[in-house]
Amino acid sequence: MSINLTDSAHFAERALSHAQVLARSGRGSATAAEKQAAEYTQAQLKSLGLEDVHMQPFLGLRSIWLFFALAFGMALVGHAAFWFLRQPLGYVPALIISLIALGLSGTMLWCKFTFRDYPLRTTLPHAPSQNVIAVIPPVGEVRRRLVLVGHLDSHRAVFWFATNFLVTLFVISGVVCIYGVFLAIPLYALFVLTQWQIFAWLGLVLAIFHFLGWFSGVTADLGQYSPGANDNASAVGTVLALAERLIMQPLQNTEIWLAFTGCEETGCDGMLALLKGHGSMLKDALFVDFELVGIGDRISYVHEEGNLHRRVIPTKVETLINEVGKPYGLHPATTPLIGASTEGGTLWELGYKAVCFSAHHQGSPILPEWHRLTDTPDHLQMNTLERVHSLAWDLLQRFDQ
Ligand SMILES: [Zn+2]
Repeated sequence: MSINLTDSAHFAERALSHAQVLARSGRGSATAAEKQAAEYTQAQLKSLGLEDVHMQPFLGLRSIWLFFALAFGMALVGHAAFWFLRQPLGYVPALIISLIALGLSGTMLWCKFTFRDYPLRTTLPHAPSQNVIAVIPPVGEVRRRLVLVGHLDSHRAVFWFATNFLVTLFVISGVVCIYGVFLAIPLYALFVLTQWQIFAWLGLVLAIFHFLGWFSGVTADLGQYSPGANDNASAVGTVLALAERLIMQPLQNTEIWLAFTGCEETGCDGMLALLKGHGSMLKDALFVDFELVGIGDRISYVHEEGNLHRRVIPTKVETLINEVGKPYGLHPATTPLIGASTEGGTLWELGYKAVCFSAHHQGSPILPEWHRLTDTPDHLQMNTLERVHSLAWDLLQRFDQ
């Protein structure tokens, strides 16, 4: 398989120019700025001469942080019930109230992370968002489908993401916070059964983490949105550039879908809307998702990911991309237990075939500029965009055979 860098250089430049326009400002989930990014993308697709381009509206969650505030706030209610209601009500009634609140918190987290409807969802602010969807027909008859995915929105530049040290701390505290909801239940129950103080104090340590989680949740939205050049204007630019090339050099028997999604950063509501609207048509399609593909000398694919419920790339998909990725040094990556997930994970959870590509610096597992205010277009690297474009192009050619 040859790497044609001459063509790739041209299309990487196209990707970069789109990213530069998109990342002029933050694009919060379900905001006017996200809508503008969708309109820009739609206009670009139409200017390429594509006829089948449409905007898919849906109601999306505005802030993942308010979700955490609600879930960890409910966990705090559980802790408070255990500590403050034992005197007036007695141990068992206090424990029952505590377990109900912690159980509700755990149910919310489990459902959110496995992309199901969760309790109290409607109490959180939702607003209009949209996906931009386009279809590029092949020259011959349609024998297979492939969906190129890049999300339009950018995340709040919450302080947890400001430095590599804080990101590491965020991941560790996130694990304690989320698994702690499920751990607090047996700890408090064991205390009531055995009267051993150690169980109660361990529960209190978890309460401190849940306070931290709740506090992060209620204060996160006071800050600005990241400009999101790498996360994820780099991907939107990459998919637009691939679309441009596909129109010039169409595939033989593969129908290409382009999916520019909204509200990825708040839990993949855009991808869920896409599947709700078009899932039956795309049941056998291969989804190729791009996440932070503009910085770094290494390209990886997500091998395993998922908060609470871990999911692994389907074997057939992995074999295919390893075959195509060899000349690019493509290697597998595993996202941390908590804190990072992609639309690829949403697709795996719901039984679809998907791969997610991203780039990073050699020797560092932390994604460059992830959710930072410094995620500006001047940090994007042509060389990375070029390699990602070239890899994606080779994958399209191989898939079309
Ligand atoms: Zn992203």
